[in-house]
Amino acid sequence: MKRRTLRTILVFLLVVALLAAGYVFLFRNLWQRWQSSRTEGFPELPADSYFEIHYFDVGEGDAALVTCDGHYLLIDGGDPSCSRFLYAYLEAHGIDRLDGIICSHAHADHAGGLAGALQVATVDVAYAPVTAYDNRSFTSFVKYLAQQGKQITVPAPGDSFSLGSATATFLGPVDMDLALENENNTSLVVRIDYGNTSFLFTGDAEIAEELSLVESGADLRSTVLKVAHHGSYTSSCRDFLDAVEPEYAVISVGADNAYGHPHEEPLERLEEYCRAVYRTDQMGQILCRSDGKTVTFSCG
Ligand SMILES: [Zn+2]
Ligand SMILES: [Zn+2]
Repeated sequence: MKRRTLRTILVFLLVVALLAAGYVFLFRNLWQRWQSSRTEGFPELPADSYFEIHYFDVGEGDAALVTCDGHYLLIDGGDPSCSRFLYAYLEAHGIDRLDGIICSHAHADHAGGLAGALQVATVDVAYAPVTAYDNRSFTSFVKYLAQQGKQITVPAPGDSFSLGSATATFLGPVDMDLALENENNTSLVVRIDYGNTSFLFTGDAEIAEELSLVESGADLRSTVLKVAHHGSYTSSCRDFLDAVEPEYAVISVGADNAYGHPHEEPLERLEEYCRAVYRTDQMGQILCRSDGKTVTFSCG
């Protein structure tokens, strides 16, 4: 065999060997990446774990009870007339201890009913954006907390806590200066993650707060969005919905309310973004369940 032919064969074999090694390396990498993508974002949940949210029908107001693995978080309490309802609901379900209460902001249609909950259940931690506010709803919330020896905790963006296998993370408000113009923009915005599903609560945050949240770079993506401010045109702007990418929306709103909520414009936007928009004025109490991968909705 000529030396030149031998050299050509050797070079050819070397190229083949290099290519083979490259392929093995590439495929091993792809395989590992595929393997990790299967488990990434799917935190293991205990076999007996469960998660549900009752979006209560409290007319023109907000109130929701998040339950996970026997732990309870009440987010808002409707207006003062809902005190009796919350008292009766918690008592009927044997709930005498709440892991947390989040009062999104001090307005009466969110803070009003919390006093009723505090008369039947103790609370470990109560969150609100302010520690005092000059209305009867908030002062009575503070009063019943004080009777339990508790004070309001004002959370900062990024603060989080566990609720069984779920995690709640405060995302806003990021700019309390906006509150000088409008208390709705003090609304605590919190995302609850359970497995690979997530639930965003926005209080009455208006567009200014929504935009400040988007600009903050917070991860707003959520499976279910509790629509801000009862579906008012002052909220649910396109930039915010782009960041949240909600699959489902829940609007807590009173039938024939004086404000004309929910307004046409945000409703159309929400229907464009979401697979379904659920409304308490149409369905009454809404129950949302998650198995960590998918969510289901039903009445009650
Ligand atoms: Zn409200
Ligand atoms: Zn409000």
